[in-house]
Amino acid sequence: MTQKLYLEEPYRTAFEAVVVASRTLDAGSREVVLDRTLFYPESGGQLADAGTLGEARVTGVREGADDTVVHVVAGEVPGSGEVQGSIDWARRFDHMQQHTGQHVLSRAFIETGKLPTVSFHMGDETCTIDLEGSGFDDAAVRRAEDLANRIVAENRPIAVNLVPLAELDQLELRRKVPEGVTIARIVSVAEFDAIPCCGTHVRSTGELGLVKVLRAERVKQLSRVHFKVGARALDDYREKHGIVQALANRLTTSAGDVLHKVERMAEESQAAGKRAKQLTQRLAEAHKPALLQRAVAAGSHRVVVYRDADAALVRALATELQTESGTVALLGADDGTVVCVTARDVTLDLAGAASAMARELGGSGGGKGGFAQLKLEDGARVDELLETIRAYVAKQLS
Ligand SMILES: [Zn+2]
Repeated sequence: MTQKLYLEEPYRTAFEAVVVASRTLDAGSREVVLDRTLFYPESGGQLADAGTLGEARVTGVREGADDTVVHVVAGEVPGSGEVQGSIDWARRFDHMQQHTGQHVLSRAFIETGKLPTVSFHMGDETCTIDLEGSGFDDAAVRRAEDLANRIVAENRPIAVNLVPLAELDQLELRRKVPEGVTIARIVSVAEFDAIPCCGTHVRSTGELGLVKVLRAERVKQLSRVHFKVGARALDDYREKHGIVQALANRLTTSAGDVLHKVERMAEESQAAGKRAKQLTQRLAEAHKPALLQRAVAAGSHRVVVYRDADAALVRALATELQTESGTVALLGADDGTVVCVTARDVTLDLAGAASAMARELGGSGGGKGGFAQLKLEDGARVDELLETIRAYVAKQLS
């Protein structure tokens, strides 16, 4: 068994311990078990601590057999004797803030919406809780978030007590004590929440600073709530404020007007896109007679070969020319787009052959029957492809 100093002294950062077991995993990596440790192993939704043992870096901490804590280290640690340990305090305190914040937020969802937490997950970026129950909306999130932050502002003390099973009846616990436990470790937020828990916690709710819900989503029958606490919440605010400010500067408006302005720009952009499409269509219609005049006869059919700078115009021309009986149109654009179409009354299986020719020139795409839409990587080879397909069509139709 390893003595778990992190449970007794969660604010302590350095310790001495005796190595009781050690084994090599691979080159430069070892597993070490100590008689006691400050390193919290990954469990109960809380992430593992990081830090150093002697000169070695602790890269992982997990629960081992016989109630031990196993440290995975990179570097040399003596196989026996004493070793100095030191945990990464910034990382640990962040975990304490997220974890304790979860206690407060979970209770707040019960108080404001009768929504019990069924699981908790701590990530390096954000944390989530899964809530049971329906009737979940933005207002429910807001109510719980407001209550959680009121509890933070009231700076309520947080106590950890070892309570014999017989005395637990007097406490209203948020979760049952696990089977087989005779003395429960109860973590309480004064006059607000009590739960059996073996994580690390801050001493008072004021140390949480801020509890911020980022978003909520339905996951099967549950509601998943993403949140950040303390320094993470501040960093998140900083980052998002920076983005909004940069957008405001770019749009020469105030931060409060950014959304309105972006919505207006999106509407304008949509209208401009629609107008561009209409104008392209009109241009195609106007251009069609000249192209048909330039068409070259192939048997009883005519073949139009044309190249334009604009791919959208090329696609519109293809649609137009497809309606002209006896016509085969081979059209290319500067960006490498090539569209081949035949009128309905032309029986020519063009797609397979044209696709194969495009692949020969480093292109892709395909189609069916008398229609093929192709794309060459190298736009400069469009004329070459059009000529190859033209020669094939002329041979087939003559
Ligand atoms: Zn806890």
